Amino acid sequence: MEALRLEIVTPDKVVLEADVDYVGAPGVDGEFGVLPGHIPLLAALSIGELYYRQGAETRWAFVAGGFAEVSGNRVSILAEAAELSSDIDVGRAKQARERAQGRLQAGPGKADVDLARASAALKRAVARIHVASR
Ligand code: ATP
Repeated sequence: MEALRLEIVTPDKVVLEADVDYVGAPGVDGEFGVLPGHIPLLAALSIGELYYRQGAETRWAFVAGGFAEVSGNRVSILAEAAELSSDIDVGRAKQARERAQGRLQAGPGKADVDLARASAALKRAVARIHVASR
């Protein structure tokens, strides 16, 4: 079967360019999968884990927001932030998790706490920790 060309790009860098057999991505409406021959697609991404298969291997990456575009056998992930599981700094993610939890616990009473921002930061941190454990 023909391979898929997967590219994961952020505003800072190209995170991955690889030939893969399958991509599973976190869409805002739930996970979706792409096999070779998929119809063209443009989907918004949520914060979560993306995985791809290369033969018997499955590999994982963290992605935060942005879009996935499928065109021909090319899957382009244009994410606000993304890291391969091996590149995730778990200590940093744990600190980010604690910071965000502290802000959420300080709670709605505190005018200077942006709850939406803190809960997005918590979601990123938890997803990074999860992907790094893969
Ligand atoms: P932090 O509070 O630790 O900066 P964050 O969730 O606010 O976390 P982002 O805004 O998502 O960070 O990302 C900013 C940049 O830092 C991106 O380039 C992202 O890839 C990188 N980055 C953030 N957290 C980590 C991590 N734990 N390991 C590796 N790279 C990270």
